[in-house]
Amino acid sequence: MKAALFDYTRPDEVGAAMSLLSGSPGAKAMGGSQSLGPMLNLRLARPGVVVDVSGIPGLRTVTQEGDSIRVGAAVTHAEIEDGIHPLLRGTPLQKIAAGIAYRSVRNRGTLGGSLAHADPAADWLVTAVAFGASLEIVSPAGSRLVDADAFMIGAYTTVLAENELIAAVRFPVASPAMRWGYYKYCRKTGEFAEASCAARFDSSTGMARIAIGALSGAPRLLPSLAAAVAREGQTACTQDAIAHAVAEAMPDHDAVDRKLHAVAVRRCLAQLLGAEESTWR
Ligand SMILES: Cc1cc2nc3c(=O)[nH]c(=O)nc-3n(C[C@H](O)[C@H](O)[C@H](O)COP(=O)(O)OP(=O)(O)OC[C@H]3O[C@@H](n4cnc5c(N)ncnc54)[C@H](O)[C@@H]3O)c2cc1C
Repeated sequence: MKAALFDYTRPDEVGAAMSLLSGSPGAKAMGGSQSLGPMLNLRLARPGVVVDVSGIPGLRTVTQEGDSIRVGAAVTHAEIEDGIHPLLRGTPLQKIAAGIAYRSVRNRGTLGGSLAHADPAADWLVTAVAFGASLEIVSPAGSRLVDADAFMIGAYTTVLAENELIAAVRFPVASPAMRWGYYKYCRKTGEFAEASCAARFDSSTGMARIAIGALSGAPRLLPSLAAAVAREGQTACTQDAIAHAVAEAMPDHDAVDRKLHAVAVRRCLAQLLGAEESTWR
């Protein structure tokens, strides 16, 4: 099918993008169009105006601000994978980006677009929650900072209002003590995850977070398991402890789903604790 007719515009400033989004009811932002494009073609979305934000210089920077690395919403998965900015090189973000879909999708798909689309299986959502990231959201009324945990309300549903844009995502800077893991289960390369787990521990700041993704809604944290692993290390990673934490976090899923997620958690923690060679899928 072909998309219904719409006007296309490509502003080069955040202010202009917001005026366009506010000025035309039903207008839609476009990042890399990797999710919006199919939705337009299937006529699941029929905006009168599409506001392409992918070329706005203000959304494409990577900077350090205080104790955060601020990654612009229009930075693509491929640019993160390639470490286009020194602040991204050698980071977990670089590795995680490389496991998203195929290179052609990564060339266009953006960090902000992925979060705004809020597919429960998306890699950036579970990463942002586990890594304690926050999202900078702008609207004509000003800007607000939303913790990644509070951003997604349900499948494909977020706290974003129609005239709001994600401007950037702030990830806490890593200390030398930071350890992390990421594991996603999918049947073949390039597919969305059927189960995923991201974890980030930093003993210098007391951070210990484990999140599971690819659920029916937003990623969920496993706080008791994270506290136990921070305290006891590998000893806390028993099959029973992981199965219990997973069952508590996803009571609305069946036994097969819970088992897949338990495997993802175990492998993610094995990476974090250095007990297993890193594998990204
Ligand atoms: C074949 C295929 C396989 C894929 N596999 C994976 C995978 O394994 N893992 C994964 O995580 N993703 C996967 N994806 C999705 C991919 O990561 C997309 O890039 C992503 O979902 C959407 O990003 P985008 O920049 O293309 O956004 P778009 O498609 O342009 O937009 C998506 C939504 O976000 C909104 N939006 C865009 N930018 C902003 C912004 N700055 N502020 C507010 N709203 C905004 C749009 O209005 C729209 O509602 C896959 C996609 C395809 C086509």
